[in-house]
Amino acid sequence: MSTINPFLSAMSQLKKAEQVTVNNKQLTGKQKAALQQKIDRLKQPQRVVNVTIPVIMDDGSQQIFQGYRVQFNNSRGPYKGGIRYHHNVSLDEVKALSFWMAMKCAVADLPLGGGKGGIIVDPKMLSVGELERLSRGYGEAIADIIGPDTDVPAPDVNTNGIIMGWMVDEFLKTQRKKAKLFGKTLTKRDEMKLKSTFTGKAIKDGGSEGREEATGLGGLFVLQAILKKLRLKGKLTAAVQGFGNVGYNIVKFLDEAGITVVAVSDSKGGIYVPDGINPALTLECKKKNGYLAGCYCSGSVCDLKKGKQVTNDALLELPVDILVPAALENAVTQENAGKIKAKVVLEMANGPTTPEADVILYKKGVPVIPDILSNSGGVTVSAFEWEQNLKGQHWTKAQVNKKLAHKMAAAAEAVWQASVAHKTDLRTAAFIVALGRILKAMK
Ligand code: NAD
Repeated sequence: MSTINPFLSAMSQLKKAEQVTVNNKQLTGKQKAALQQKIDRLKQPQRVVNVTIPVIMDDGSQQIFQGYRVQFNNSRGPYKGGIRYHHNVSLDEVKALSFWMAMKCAVADLPLGGGKGGIIVDPKMLSVGELERLSRGYGEAIADIIGPDTDVPAPDVNTNGIIMGWMVDEFLKTQRKKAKLFGKTLTKRDEMKLKSTFTGKAIKDGGSEGREEATGLGGLFVLQAILKKLRLKGKLTAAVQGFGNVGYNIVKFLDEAGITVVAVSDSKGGIYVPDGINPALTLECKKKNGYLAGCYCSGSVCDLKKGKQVTNDALLELPVDILVPAALENAVTQENAGKIKAKVVLEMANGPTTPEADVILYKKGVPVIPDILSNSGGVTVSAFEWEQNLKGQHWTKAQVNKKLAHKMAAAAEAVWQASVAHKTDLRTAAFIVALGRILKAMK
């Protein structure tokens, strides 16, 4: 994937919604100027924290890792956003991701702002012990700037419930120490409330039912709502780039909804199975082999005759109805956008389409369902987890999924209506909705 600066892409996306918002003919000059001042404040994060994390490696040597936590905007509530482990993490990437989180939480109408964290590391090069020490180190390093009413992190690329568990543990240690300083002891109830500082936790640590698959399920709900508006029905096919948490789950839910997923890929390449892949068998095969090639699993068997290998680039250009980028930023660029044959793009990754590619797809008449709407199911169930911990409740999966369906339908409807009202693409519409809600909350 290319090295296009994601923060510049994010700001360029904001520009179009900014113009629509500020150029509202019903506003006076003074009102326009006041709005512009607020929007200008939204172009920079409120706080950027740089951390260095020393880790003693298994061979006794020390390695110092670089990490970030960016707190973009908290006008609507505590900062909220995941923590990414990747060798390409950069400050501009974390800034972009935290900005998108602020917009996403507003589109989903959650009482939360936007934040994001990251560590520059290839976690595949670490042992489990080294990964644990790094995660605990990061948890301790950011402990002073997070909390249930301040900043609520979660998993992102290459992080999961186990890693959240280590971080929660470190965070609680610092909070117990602080309480002791004032002669206090934390009760079990205090600790449960403090655990709401992290979401995406394992169920045993206070996690929510349905969180792991929430981004994928939310994506399906949004897709179904928009397909209805587009009047796109019948036997549909899809290709999905990425086969991690989000990629696997969207493949599973598309398949369950009767949409045939003919191709899927990960960082090592992809597979094309014209009869439609079996998600569970493909995952099992990939886990066994370590890669997708040869995992041509369809129906109830995996058979080499059922499929062939495809590159990540070729996957994006397959003749399918729905293209789902679910890996990293900048997958769809001005180089390949013209070659995309899909009728609709469902952005499950954050920032997978560059602004130049957006223009090409718009001209081609290919609607792009934007990330800040499509993948907002994850943060929505994270918000449910936060709420459950704060209230000392535990909701059933059926309760969680019902609330998620309701939130996603409302968000998709708001974005669709804004696109109709302003005669614009879905991304600009989503930004208009988010911007309106954030500006209303800003002082
Ligand atoms: P993950 O680490 O579980 O999976 C990432 C997947 O992308 C892996 O299959 C990896 O092999 C693949 N990948 C990496 N580089 C690739 C490349 N160059 N080409 C093709 N595939 C590649 O991460 P995830 O949680 O599934 O996150 C995926 C995307 O979804 C990210 O953009 C993330 O920010 C976004 N997202 C995640 C969540 C969540 O709840 N986890 C919520 C909203 C958005």
